[in-house]
Amino acid sequence: MNTRTPTRSWRLTTLSTMLASAVLAAPAHAAVSDTDILNDSKTTKDVVSYGMGPQAQRFSPLTQINTKSVKKLVPAWSFSFGGEQQRGQEAQPLVYDGVIYTTASYSRAYAVDARTGQKLWEYNARLPDGIMPCCDVINRGMAIYEDLVYFGTLDARLIALDRKTGKVVWTKKLGEYKEGYSYTAAPMVVKGKVITGVSGGEFGVVGKVEARDAKTGELVWSRPVVEGHMGTLNGKDSTMTGVKNATWEGDQWKQGGGATWLGGTYDPETNLIYMGTGNPAPWNSWTRKGDNLYTASTLAINPDNGEIKWHLQTTPHDGWDFDGVNEFVPFDMKKDGKVIKAGAKADRNGFFFVADRTNGDLLGAYPFVSKITWAKGFDLKTKRPIYNDEGRPGNPFDPATQGAEGKGKPVFSAPSFLGGKNWMPMAYSPKTEMFYVPSNEWGMDIWNEPVTYKKGAAYLGAGFTIKPLYDDHIGVLRAMDPKTGKIKWEYKNPAPLWGGVMTTAGNLVFTGTPEGFLKAFDAQSGKELWKFQTGSGIVGSPVTWEMDGQQYVAVVSGWGGAVPLWGGEVAKKINTITQGGSLWVFRLSQ
Ligand code: CA
Ligand code: CA
Repeated sequence: MNTRTPTRSWRLTTLSTMLASAVLAAPAHAAVSDTDILNDSKTTKDVVSYGMGPQAQRFSPLTQINTKSVKKLVPAWSFSFGGEQQRGQEAQPLVYDGVIYTTASYSRAYAVDARTGQKLWEYNARLPDGIMPCCDVINRGMAIYEDLVYFGTLDARLIALDRKTGKVVWTKKLGEYKEGYSYTAAPMVVKGKVITGVSGGEFGVVGKVEARDAKTGELVWSRPVVEGHMGTLNGKDSTMTGVKNATWEGDQWKQGGGATWLGGTYDPETNLIYMGTGNPAPWNSWTRKGDNLYTASTLAINPDNGEIKWHLQTTPHDGWDFDGVNEFVPFDMKKDGKVIKAGAKADRNGFFFVADRTNGDLLGAYPFVSKITWAKGFDLKTKRPIYNDEGRPGNPFDPATQGAEGKGKPVFSAPSFLGGKNWMPMAYSPKTEMFYVPSNEWGMDIWNEPVTYKKGAAYLGAGFTIKPLYDDHIGVLRAMDPKTGKIKWEYKNPAPLWGGVMTTAGNLVFTGTPEGFLKAFDAQSGKELWKFQTGSGIVGSPVTWEMDGQQYVAVVSGWGGAVPLWGGEVAKKINTITQGGSLWVFRLSQ
């Protein structure tokens, strides 16, 4: 700077000071912060996390669309994912800075103008021929942090894209797809780290939870969820998971399963990630003695170092592929004049669990489907099921009960392995203090048979046929009181429910059906108030936000997922439902 011209120098200094303070006061562009994610459930102008908040209550405080006005809800626009790649669309959209970010089948990602439905960019992951997704080519959505969006692919990679351009910033391998690893969940960002699990429980993979630096993708910690495996922290061994061979025999823990195939939840009050783990491998429980920790469990994990703080195993020694991955939703339970820091999980095994989220103490285990054959109930003190021994498929290694071709005696089991509730997320309203649980009424004939582990091959040792329990319905949306386990209302649907649920302060509950309808119900009474036909089955999760003074609702439509692939007699009943792939956005008519 020229010191001989003081006037000019003063002007320059003032200008630079002004510029500096302007930069401090208003960032050059919007970027998603940790605070934005932690407050997501309260901020109505964006949806920056899977679950509409890291606790995944899927509750919005918005009231413009309510029990009175919902009859005026109409489409604002619809966007087609296009191409010939359809099948299941299980994503939950994110909304930020006037843009909707969503994924679609076959590992595709989109950014769409939230006001007009105009496509801003599209990213197609190039997939190898040998991918092994067990249950359709689905994806459940993205995470967003600062200027990046993140999603996982069917060949088990985690990809970070520039949210403005859709260009790849980094890619990390989560597992070897040739061994059966894949990835379909929506990632989660906790304190600047991207948290992921892995899919592949039907191939004898080992489940793990991992944290990566959100900016660089560098691995911070890894926590395998099967006893005996070693965790890592900052590139070094950290601690062993559990105690080797405490609940597994021999080397079975090496292909022990426990796939962490659904995203977790995070509670800032306890600073814990709650992650579910899938079935022990193989399905045939006669091949592996013991509880097989930590499969079929909810794990509470410290996000800073990957250490397991507590576990709640909801199906010890699982013999039905009940998994345990379903979301554990933190909520404050007002009971007997106290506020209990609780969490709830509607398990595949048919029980709705309420636990103390600080320590995993079991507070309640209530049936939420009409028929459960594998257990009579739970002992809350020991946290163990009271098994019905005759509900376990017969031992194929016992000559007394062995049938044709070395098969064990088949049993009829309810729920089926597709679960009293599968992956589709429930919602919790702090206003009605009720959970809204998408459930299904079905059972299965299941039998066990011998099996040996082969890398990259299905590792079940079981066969099955799924059957509906009732002629007129399979799906039931239920309003559950977590304090008592009582069901306040239920809505019965002919086809199985496979989409997520959302509830709002407008006293509404939204969910989609395979028949193609997005529906709204009165949160108190369960009365159906509104529906709209989207042209294909809905197996995605709705969201709501506020933009330009109006409340909007978005959902993806496109039938698919595990039911048409594995549904047995159920699949035959619903094979007339057509495929699709589109994003729908609604608002009240003017
Ligand atoms: Ca928000
Ligand atoms: Ca499984």
